[in-house]
Amino acid sequence: MLMNKIAFIGAGNMNSAIITGLVSNGFTPSDVMVSNPSPEKREKLADNYNVLHTASNIEAANFADTIVLGVKPYLIADVLKEISDQVDVENKCFISVAAGCSMATMEKALGKTCALIRTMPNTPSQIGLGVTGLYASDKVTDEQKAQADALMSSVGITKWLDKESDIDNIIAVSGSAPAYFFLFMEAMEHKAQSLGFTAEESRKLVQQTALGAAEMVVKNADLSIAQLRENVTSKGGTTAAALNTFVEGGIDTLVDNAMDAALHRAKEMA
Ligand code: NAP
Repeated sequence: MLMNKIAFIGAGNMNSAIITGLVSNGFTPSDVMVSNPSPEKREKLADNYNVLHTASNIEAANFADTIVLGVKPYLIADVLKEISDQVDVENKCFISVAAGCSMATMEKALGKTCALIRTMPNTPSQIGLGVTGLYASDKVTDEQKAQADALMSSVGITKWLDKESDIDNIIAVSGSAPAYFFLFMEAMEHKAQSLGFTAEESRKLVQQTALGAAEMVVKNADLSIAQLRENVTSKGGTTAAALNTFVEGGIDTLVDNAMDAALHRAKEMA
């Protein structure tokens, strides 16, 4: 894998997922250092994957060429200010996984024009099935882009974006979207229970159906999703009766409005 040393600032869910993916894909653990104020999470990563760890963000940032910022969005500027005083930031590449923290905010905190990459991963990255949108500032080299791509590919698929505002679009399309599917599955689970299935049975039936449907989409790349739906919908049958109810209830408009609402909120938070 194309990569030098990497520092992870924050040992939370997202950085832990990326570290797991990286090391599982053969990246050398001694080239990874993770910093986190409290010891428990970083020690767990060190125990599980043999990565180096420290309480000091400065030590981690000085150790690496690439620095992954995995703290909550409201902490990104503080962490960058702390690092910029004592680290040669112009020779590093910063990769932020935080939603709602713009390049302008990051540059202001660093006080210099640096190589910055914003990414928008989604929650299934935690199981290696994520989608990550990436946007790079002008200062990022092709080699740094390739490294960022390798990093985020270790937890799923990547999509490079042409402009920073596309980060908001990808939040609506994939960032927030696992929860759309959870909501739909929850509604089906409730109905299954009202039809007499136990809670455990309902969950099993719904999750396997969702998994099977998603896998059919993946395995039949030559067919449109609309075609797959038509293939399982006989005229006048049970599936058609259910689908007509969704259409009459305005599913297209509902999904359109929901994704617009996510987009609007992403812009407000940026
Ligand atoms: P998280 O589990 O709460 O992890 C954040 C970590 O940062 C915690 O371990 C926290 O340590 C540590 N931390 C706090 N202050 C710090 C500091 N000053 N220096 C270094 N580390 C510090 O959060 P998360 O879910 O991984 O999210 C992290 C980022 O990923 C967020 O910006 C979020 O927007 C983004 N993201 C997450 C997901 C997801 O699925 N989780 C998806 C997309 C984007 P303590 O707990 O010890 O305070």
